[in-house]
Amino acid sequence: VAPRSQKIGRRGLLPDTHAHLDAAEFADDRTEVVTRACAAGVTRILAVGTDLTSSAAALALAEDHPPVFAAAGLHPTEAHKWSDESGGLRDLLGSRKAVAVGEIGLDFVRASATRDEQIRVFRTQLQWAADYELPVSVHNRGADDEVLDEVDGLPVSVILHCFSGSQAFAERALASGCLLSFAGNVTFPRAGELREIAGAVPIDRILLESDAPVLAPQPWRGRRNEPAYTRFTAETVSEARGVALEDLAAQVSRSADALFRWGTA
Ligand SMILES: [Zn+2]
Repeated sequence: VAPRSQKIGRRGLLPDTHAHLDAAEFADDRTEVVTRACAAGVTRILAVGTDLTSSAAALALAEDHPPVFAAAGLHPTEAHKWSDESGGLRDLLGSRKAVAVGEIGLDFVRASATRDEQIRVFRTQLQWAADYELPVSVHNRGADDEVLDEVDGLPVSVILHCFSGSQAFAERALASGCLLSFAGNVTFPRAGELREIAGAVPIDRILLESDAPVLAPQPWRGRRNEPAYTRFTAETVSEARGVALEDLAAQVSRSADALFRWGTA
């Protein structure tokens, strides 16, 4: 059964600010995935990298598909590649369609690199973002305090991707100037606290993303996610905020346009 979906509006504006479009899950239908996103009103997609190969792939996709833009960076679970890949990653940031540094951050749960190594790698990439005047898409797992310590006072727009922290952490992150980006998990039945947070974040500090191919929102939970489904996440967040979907989508688009300077859709 096709889920009911509200209209985003005739101009169709809704950016997906974090998708792993280079993932193997999209090998057979990547172009159709981008076409379906645009048809659903998701007219800008930030394809994020996790290492040099995937960042270069994200950038190649951006070159091939006008709605796609790229972020380049080394994910904390890939931090062991730093000495081999950092030079190449930095070079990618000079490309016309590279509009962010990411996915970077700290993962104290899953990553094999030590905390000190991860912090060093994260800190250097934050400095790249400052040098290139680009925003950063940040992965945080089990490192709330350390992430905020590292971004504190930097002249960089910081997006906490797939925000899933507590109310207290949300308040601290907002006080530090971060933007919170919500993914499909905000639609899950048990995510009541997360919906409350998404309902209360200042409108100019909220972004939406798919994190495809993982984390599909209801009603596609458990299946392959794709950027088009960002609209279901947007519906849930607009309900939590008590605003019309098209008003939320328009505001989020304005924020993303300002951050990524990727031109209005
Ligand atoms: Zn991601």
